[in-house]
Formats: sequence, C-alpha cells, structure tokens
Amino acid sequence: MASRETAVVADVPKGLWVGGGTIPATDKAVLPVHDPSTGEVLAEVADASPADGVAALDVAVATQESWAGTAPRERGEILRRAFELMTARADELALLMTLEMGKPLVESRGEVTYAAEFFRWFSEEAVRISGRWSTSPDGATRLMTMKRPVGPTLMITPWNFPLAMGTRKIGPAVAAGCTMVVKPAAQTPLSMYALAAILREAGLPDGVLGVITTSRSGAVMEPLIRDPRVRKLTFTGSTAIGRRLVEQSAQQLLRVSMELGGNAPFLVMADADLDAAVDGAMLAKMRNMGEACTAANRFIVHESVAVEFGRRLAERMGALRVGRGTEDGVQVGPLVDETSRDKVSELVASAVGGGATVLTGAGPVGDRGWFYAPTVLADVPADAELLREEIFGPVAPVTTFTTPDEAIAKANDTEYGLVAYAYTRDLDTALALSERLDTGMVGINQGVVSNPAAPFGGVKHSGFGREGGTEGIEEYLETRYVGIRPA
Ligand code: NAP
Repeated sequence: MASRETAVVADVPKGLWVGGGTIPATDKAVLPVHDPSTGEVLAEVADASPADGVAALDVAVATQESWAGTAPRERGEILRRAFELMTARADELALLMTLEMGKPLVESRGEVTYAAEFFRWFSEEAVRISGRWSTSPDGATRLMTMKRPVGPTLMITPWNFPLAMGTRKIGPAVAAGCTMVVKPAAQTPLSMYALAAILREAGLPDGVLGVITTSRSGAVMEPLIRDPRVRKLTFTGSTAIGRRLVEQSAQQLLRVSMELGGNAPFLVMADADLDAAVDGAMLAKMRNMGEACTAANRFIVHESVAVEFGRRLAERMGALRVGRGTEDGVQVGPLVDETSRDKVSELVASAVGGGATVLTGAGPVGDRGWFYAPTVLADVPADAELLREEIFGPVAPVTTFTTPDEAIAKANDTEYGLVAYAYTRDLDTALALSERLDTGMVGINQGVVSNPAAPFGGVKHSGFGREGGTEGIEEYLETRYVGIRPA
C-alpha cells in the first residue's frame, strides 16, 4: 500500500464503537478487512460476540430518554456539522472506501457527497417535526397529536454503499431523536467507524450511536432483534436475509423498514433519444460496477432500435478502463469478493450457453483481485437466469419488445419492484409508464434516481419503507394523540 493509503487506514477507529469510544471485543477477536483489488488484508477490526452486541444495545437504551429530550435545533446542528466535516474530508473518506470496497475513487467521492447530503437534508428536517390540533366532531374534546422518536433502533447496512446506506438511516434517526446500534457489512467496516468518529467530533453525545462489527451477524443480531427494548429495525441488504429478519422481528412486533434487492428494467421506447438512452444506460448499469440495488438488470429495447442500442452500449462498455480503484483514470474496479465474481461469471456463462450473443466482455480480467469485464449480451433467451436474478456486476443483457404493453408486462415480470428506468420523448408514454410500472421509483429519461430529497424505496420483494425525502424521517417517528377535555 502507498503511504497515504496506510495513513488513511491507520486513522480509523477499529474497536467496537460503544459509548462514544472504542472497546475491543470481549474475547479480543478480530475480523480482517480485505482490499478486493489485491485480496490483501488492509486492517483488522474488532469481531463482536453476542454479549458485545447486548452491551452496545444497553448503552443505546440508557441514552434514549435524554437524547429524545434534546432540542431539535441541537440535533440538526450536529448533523450539519457532520455534513461539513464529511465534505472537508471527502478525499480521505473516498480513499478509505475505495480501499475496502474497490470502487474507483471518482465513484467513492460521489458516494461521500451523496452520503453527506443525507446529513444536510435531515439537519433541515429536524426542526420541521410537527403535530396538529383539532376539535372533535362533537365539540367535546380537543385532539392534539405530536411526534415522538420511535426509540432505540437497530440498523444493518450492506457493503456496496458503505457510507450512504448508513447516513440514510443515521441522519433521520438523529434528527428524530432515536438512539441506534449500527452493524455494517463485514467487508466494509472502516467507512462506518470513520463516520462514527466524525459524528462524535460533530457533537453527537456519547451513547447515541453504537457501531458493532462481527463475523457472526446472525448470532449477534438475532438476540438484539428479539430484545424487547428495541423499537425499530431498519435493514438494507438482500431479500433473502431481509425476509429472515422480518420473521425474527415479528416476535416483538418491531417497526421494520426493509430496503432489499432489485431487478430494475431499463426500457428504451421506439421514439427514445438513443444518445441519451445510452448515456443513461451507462449510469444505470455501471454505477458501482453494477453492484447496486438500483442497477439496470434487464435492458428491454424496442425491436426497431435494439441492434443500434446494443452496438453503441457495447462500444461504450468495451472502452471502460478496468483496474485498481485507486489508479488514475480507472472507471471499473473489482467486484467485492471472489464469490460475487464467480456468481457473475456463472450467470453470463449460462446465458451464453442458452443462446445469448456476446457483444463485448464476458469473462474475468487479470489473475489478481476480483475483476470482471464490462459485458453486453444480445439475444438473451427469455428464460435466462440473469434476467430473473440480481446480477450485481457489470453485465447488460439486452432483450427486445414490439408493443408498449409487452414492454410493461416484461418489466413487471419479476418479484422485485425497486426501480424502473424508461427513455421516451412522448409525454403520454412517459405518464403511462410512470403509472403502470410496478416499482417504488421510476426514472424517466434519467439513469439515476437516488436523491436525498426524494423517497427511496421499493414494493414487492424489494421491501417497504422509504429513506430520504420528507418521508424518511417518518420512519423514526411515532404519532402520539392526546385527547384534552376542557372543563
Ligand atoms: P446481505 O448479505 O443481505 O447483507 C446485508 C447486511 O446484512 C450485512 O451487514 C450482513 O452482514 C448482514 N447480515 C447477513 N446475514 C445476517 C443475519 N442472519 N442477521 C443479521 N444480519 C445479517 O447483502 P449484501 O450482499 O451485503 O448487499 C447486497 C444486497 O443489498 C443486494 O441484494 C442489494 O440489492 C441490496 N441493497 C439494497 C438497497 C436498497 O436500498 N434497496 C441498497 C443497497 C443494497 P455480514 O456482512 O456480516 O454478512
């Protein structure tokens, strides 16, 4: 590692973050963090036991009442300062993220900005929490409603957006007055520990935020999810794990938010601006090397433009520079680990075996790290597994349609429902697609929908609950009604 890389990693707290400082795991166990571009160990962080998890929750529970009593402006100012600190340290945070996750530096910088914006947005929302006042229909009683923080919250986040998936939860929870215990993914704990230190520096009182890292997520988190003192669980990750956590949370009837997997369709209608569609496709597919829940997973293109769209997309994808994310000019980093890379290889091999044509790519790159070539496939058979499964890699399968009804039917033919993209120049078509695509989000003539000011979330097996926007803080608030009878 270059000396700057070593220094950035050395600066990060590596113990469990409990009570505003770090502590080792009780049995001193550690968890290695790898650089996916080399496979080398970057650092070791504490590996929590189930008892450590309970200790972190104890602190969050003990802090809840005093934290809920702080002034909204104070909570907002903490978030605002954290936003500014993240912005000032964007380069260091980006380098750290690239080292542990692999994405190119330019993408990591983009994520730091996106992540920090959640703090800025929710710093503004903290002072807009309100209730209402009315008279009962019979005139006998006054009805007052107020918003209260839900209470101690468990947060579980994935590795693909190590900072933003955290700030999208921590921001509204801080604004609402909830305490929390966060468990980041085992592959990317360093970004979350760096964020915890920033929040402390921004003035977050000790005990409001705990961060635990563990190689035994199930054994550590299940007792917490079943603990009656917890009031909410918010999870971002795969549908399979989300389903399991919903079952566990049923015991305490926890409030639950689930941001799960996707299988986004990307529709190119006959009248689309093809240049714009290819630009959008590059973003929708290649952001995060395709390792995004919002990644376009199926390109559904009108038969009259499919050949030209495939040709242009393949030209752009084939020209991308693949390499270690820290190197200048690299546009595509490694996939996060060997399992992910092998899964992408298998999905592509199976589609090609079934008759798909390779327009570019289709294979691992290099003999070190988990690189996979940007790939475009045409003539993909309708029953190909990669049209049903989340690919989570830089692979674009192109299929065709004849009528708009067929396009919509194909787009909705999935158990997922996170996001859909569509390119058209016709307003009526755009409106019809917005209404008939069965997803929580629709991008019309744009390849990215993520925006801190908008409600992010899905339907069907992509989960429930919304993050960001004015809706985001509601996930961390309860409505209390007080009836007042005048004398
Ligand atoms: P994952 O395997 O479901 O893991 C997500 C998180 O859950 C990690 O922190 C993981 O910890 C933890 N976890 C795993 N098993 C657990 C258990 N039994 N109990 C408690 N926690 C457990 O997903 P991933 O591979 O990290 O992330 C990719 C998935 O996230 C994709 O499906 C993607 O679509 C989805 N995602 C969704 C959104 C959205 O907003 N809808 C955003 C980003 C990603 P360990 O690391 O220790 O296993």
